[in-house]
Amino acid sequence: MTGDAAVLKAREIATRVLAPSAVQNDKAGRFSAEAVESLGESGLLGLLLPVDLGGSGLGPRTFAVVTATLAEADASVAMVYLMHILGSAVISAARPSAAHALTPVLQEIGAGRHLSTLAFSEAGSRSHFWAPVSRAQRNGDGVRISAKKSWVTSAGHAQSYVVSALAPEGEGPTESTLYLLGADTRGLSVAGPWDGLGLRANASAPIALDDCQVPSGFQLTDDGAGFPAMLNVVLPLFNLGTAAVALGLCRAAVAETAAHLKSARFEHLGQSLGESLPTLRAQLAAMQIETDGLSARIDDVVEHLENPRETTMLRVLEVKAAAGDAAIGVTSAAMRACGGAAFSKHLTIERLFRDAHAGAVMAPTGDVLREFIGKSLLGMPLF
Ligand SMILES: Cc1cc2nc3c(=O)[nH]c(=O)nc-3n(C[C@H](O)[C@H](O)[C@H](O)COP(=O)(O)OP(=O)(O)OC[C@H]3O[C@@H](n4cnc5c(N)ncnc54)[C@H](O)[C@@H]3O)c2cc1C
Repeated sequence: MTGDAAVLKAREIATRVLAPSAVQNDKAGRFSAEAVESLGESGLLGLLLPVDLGGSGLGPRTFAVVTATLAEADASVAMVYLMHILGSAVISAARPSAAHALTPVLQEIGAGRHLSTLAFSEAGSRSHFWAPVSRAQRNGDGVRISAKKSWVTSAGHAQSYVVSALAPEGEGPTESTLYLLGADTRGLSVAGPWDGLGLRANASAPIALDDCQVPSGFQLTDDGAGFPAMLNVVLPLFNLGTAAVALGLCRAAVAETAAHLKSARFEHLGQSLGESLPTLRAQLAAMQIETDGLSARIDDVVEHLENPRETTMLRVLEVKAAAGDAAIGVTSAAMRACGGAAFSKHLTIERLFRDAHAGAVMAPTGDVLREFIGKSLLGMPLF
């Protein structure tokens, strides 16, 4: 599949599957199994996987466009997709000794029949996902893990979970190891409901791991090498992907605001809102400027990932912080410009506004990213 074909497929699924049910799924907090099935059938679940595993061998550029396209129709599904792509990237980058156990999993992902996700955040260390408080215990040739994973997108719907835990002999708070746990692992259970303000249809519920046995073939990184995998494999794609979700939300907010300003009328003046009020035109223009700025920033990060250089990590950190602010700013402006129609939920803008707030909360949070950027500019250690 080429990059252009992948984007066309994403557009088709966004129009046919996501858009018609986004409002209802948001209201009911319903995970869209149909969306995941369509993404699987279209080959998009294996977007970044090598061709010999049934994937498309595509890169961050297509990933960003596909994710933004999905988010424009339903950000909950886009976030499910993003977490899956991250999960599959970590599995695909696993240490060579795990290849025998993991190849069938990767082939299932390539065939579109397997959804994965990340289970990093823990109740004990909250948004500091790089410092799990759970610790793997050696057991035979594998480990046993007990942990309270506080938020896991696609909880109860994914076929596998990429799980972090401190390495059995790890000494510092970041000496973690990553493991792959199948959804049917004994002791793994969804530990509560998901009823968030936004992204309500992505099942980001807590997961409990109660003495789960993990065979050595499903250890993804060497002991203590979970942290570098988080930094090098997960962080760039996660920050790019959440920025793409934010871009989709901004684009949807601009389109919906423009449509409202054209269609809603002051009958006593014989004009639409947009014809009548320059302040609303200025707000719409400011939203468009922010949205295009974010789009340019995403293109810049993609280019930095394709051609890595000294400034790449800085741009990766910046893009998610900037995208979170842009999405909240643009959707807030849309709420204001569309007034009562937005407030009373006659438009989808209030869903976009609620969904936009998730990006800044998801770790690394906007605050943490600004803290990292500030420290790095001052030459201070980040951890
Ligand atoms: C929709 C959604 C989906 C999610 N999906 C997943 C998932 O699939 N897998 C997963 O592992 N996790 C997931 N998470 C969890 C997420 O990544 C965070 O770990 C979680 O939101 C932590 O939130 P908290 O408010 O408890 O963090 P807290 O650590 O309590 O943060 C509270 C506040 O303090 C600020 N803060 C914290 N540390 C610092 C610092 N060092 N400097 C400055 N400010 C700081 C934060 O920015 C925040 O404003 C998801 C979260 C959401 C909202």
